[in-house]
Amino acid sequence: MTDPAAKDFVILGGGTAGWMAACLLANQWRGRGATVTLIESKEIGIIGVGEGSTPQLKAFFDRLGIAEREWMPACDATYKNGISFHGWSNRPGYESYFHPFPAPIDNHTAAKFFYNTRARRTGRDVDAHPDRFFLPALLAATEKAPIAPEHFPFEPTYGYHFDAHKVGAFLADHATENLGVRHIEGRVENVERADNGDIAALITEDRSRIAGNFFLDCSGFRAILFNGALDEPFLPFSDNLFNDSAVVMPTTRADQTRLPSQTKATALSAGWVWDIPLTTRSGNGYVYSSSHIDAEAAECELRQHLGVGDTGEARHLKMRVGRVRNSWSHNALAIGLSQGFLEPLEATALHIVIATVEQFIGSFEAGDFTPEHRDSFNADIAARYEGIRDYIVCHYKVNRREDAAGIDYWAANRANQNLSDDLKSVLTSWYTGGDLTAEISRLGIGKYYSAISWHSLLAGYGTFPDDAKITPPGDDIVIHDVSEIQRFLDRCALNFDDHAQALSVFD
Ligand SMILES: Cc1cc2nc3c(=O)[nH]c(=O)nc-3n(C[C@H](O)[C@H](O)[C@H](O)COP(=O)(O)OP(=O)(O)OC[C@H]3O[C@@H](n4cnc5c(N)ncnc54)[C@H](O)[C@@H]3O)c2cc1C
Repeated sequence: MTDPAAKDFVILGGGTAGWMAACLLANQWRGRGATVTLIESKEIGIIGVGEGSTPQLKAFFDRLGIAEREWMPACDATYKNGISFHGWSNRPGYESYFHPFPAPIDNHTAAKFFYNTRARRTGRDVDAHPDRFFLPALLAATEKAPIAPEHFPFEPTYGYHFDAHKVGAFLADHATENLGVRHIEGRVENVERADNGDIAALITEDRSRIAGNFFLDCSGFRAILFNGALDEPFLPFSDNLFNDSAVVMPTTRADQTRLPSQTKATALSAGWVWDIPLTTRSGNGYVYSSSHIDAEAAECELRQHLGVGDTGEARHLKMRVGRVRNSWSHNALAIGLSQGFLEPLEATALHIVIATVEQFIGSFEAGDFTPEHRDSFNADIAARYEGIRDYIVCHYKVNRREDAAGIDYWAANRANQNLSDDLKSVLTSWYTGGDLTAEISRLGIGKYYSAISWHSLLAGYGTFPDDAKITPPGDDIVIHDVSEIQRFLDRCALNFDDHAQALSVFD
């Protein structure tokens, strides 16, 4: 009897999403007779941005059995402790904060952080800035790598920065050389449908017919299968998230003697700019709302921010922000930018790619390679998008930045009432002095962003009563000695190497 896994998978698109999907599917099922074919058009090319990750990328490489020493140097990759936000709040003492990836060592300090933020929310003068409570903030501030030595029993959780083109090429080599993925170059012009509406084959410009049992749409913002053939509705998030454009410009790192271990997200007049440190350069991009600033002014502001004058070439991109209604439709799965995109503030796109493919693998196997679990899969993926979206929206909703003259961007974000019920509940709990950790657990949203992330965001912008309403803590408040926590973190950090030095082991 044929193994039900012995399916022919066809992937349309050879960007990061396509090659990640190819690796995961071939790794899982090639031993059971599955074939994976990937077709891409070099002429169309890839988007070539997306250079920061969450810890999901580490799990991805671990799953494929690829060591850091194999892929990191090949992709100019660096370690990422998290993201620091600058200029999103004008409240003194809260001009910047760091968003850490949650890790087991947080158990030593998180409860104190939650306690202090709640006390400050109710007007007590206690230190509640997230940077004082978590090890990754200190590792990032001191440019250390999140790699624990053998004698230190707590592994930080971390992501990476990398060159998007090089990661795609690395995965393409791995998929074709080690996992038996067939690679075809060509431009798909037509899609052949079966009587039941399934996709039967992709037809290229030279009339080649690529048939399969299951198809993955990894064709980027073009969404050739989902937008075109399957006509799956796209649900925009433009009411919640205003940014729809980006201008991108790599630069040489200003100070070659230093290698940051964090992404920097700095607010500008109609959006924010990322600074992603690679071993060879910095990746920079201004993500903005075209309703508030035009492309020329955005490029000018980015150049000014980077201090590069007229030198270097900038690339302009439009972003389609939202998601397809169903990521799995008929015998096809949308992955990557064809599936949806939340703006890159929390660098979640590749995270969603990996999570979607892994969940698909689980659902397809559980249903004996039939669409039995398609509806629940689609509901889960939709909830994931919305859970992540809410966290990103919250950054804008609680911002405390002044608008530049003539640009009503930050105030408009603060005034935006298009908030989901879950986000309203989070904010109500925060503003009324409620137990936010319990509320996040009640809402079931902690799997998208943890209680530490939510508390860090809200506390990090100084979302507390005005200074005039803050009073000294009374006897009912337990005083957590923040200098004691600082000493604990300082001693932990002594175990970690300087970032550049940690990467030199790959030389
Ligand atoms: C401004 C910006 C910043 C971002 N930052 C981050 C970040 O920090 N972290 C993160 O995780 N993600 C980020 N992303 C998202 C990230 O770039 C993408 O998720 C990732 O690159 C995957 O893209 P993709 O493979 O879906 O699409 P693409 O890279 O666009 O690939 C599409 C593929 O489809 C092929 N194709 C299209 N049409 C046809 C056709 N008719 N025939 C044959 N082939 C075809 C193309 O040739 C290409 O190979 C960012 C995105 C943007 C826009």
